[in-house]
Amino acid sequence: MYRSSFKLLTLLTVSAAAIGVGAQQRGAPPAQQGNPADTEVWEPIPKIITPGASDSAPPSDAIVLFDGRNLDQWVSTQDKSPAGWTVADGVVTVKKSAGNIETKRTFTNFQLHLEWRVPAGTTGSGQARGNSGVFLASTGEGDGGYELQILDSFENKTYVNGQAGSVYKQYIPLVNAMRKPGEWQTYDIIWTAPVFNADGSLKSPAYLTAFHNGALIQNHVELKGQTRYIGKPEYTKHGPAPIKLQAHGDPSPPISFRNIWLREL
Ligand code: MG
Repeated sequence: MYRSSFKLLTLLTVSAAAIGVGAQQRGAPPAQQGNPADTEVWEPIPKIITPGASDSAPPSDAIVLFDGRNLDQWVSTQDKSPAGWTVADGVVTVKKSAGNIETKRTFTNFQLHLEWRVPAGTTGSGQARGNSGVFLASTGEGDGGYELQILDSFENKTYVNGQAGSVYKQYIPLVNAMRKPGEWQTYDIIWTAPVFNADGSLKSPAYLTAFHNGALIQNHVELKGQTRYIGKPEYTKHGPAPIKLQAHGDPSPPISFRNIWLREL
């Protein structure tokens, strides 16, 4: 027992010496000079907020867009009348005949949280299976704006720049983090709006970062313009804009949303 412990101690000592010699040979960092306080920053002090009770719940500085009770923060994209989707049991379900809905308020840069669920036993395939979408800026009627795709991409093949988590027809998601139909999905999105010059030309593009069920799916991608179903994306000057949810025309059963909130940046 004693001998083996001694051997181990010797081995450790020799190893440590070897590491020390190695470090010296590679060049150890020089002793630091000066005052560490020179590089300390004490102001501005970050505002104190109260985080949500869970990662689904809004922090104290969030704007709550849907808390399960009503669609008071939303209107029809088409005619700005009250949003006609169905609210029940704390969730809102797409009513396809009522069309897209969008927020009454407009936003520029923000962090957005939302949860969505494709119903269990959904039907259809490809783009015709649980299709919806969140437009980070709605720039007009129909599908005008920039769409982060919502779709049932659980064992459902489609073009990859159109699957769930894609910036539609622009960026493939880094991974497929999809839960199966019947389970709730979360999107956490960071949106940096494009900036335009007075003459309408682009000053700086839009950027998007997104997490799907906690996994990074879009990492600060630079958008090429507004989403186009056909043809290449392009920018058209706009200012602060609503956030829009899509009522897609496919015949699969409608999806639901809950816990929608954002923090302006
Ligand atoms: Mg869509």
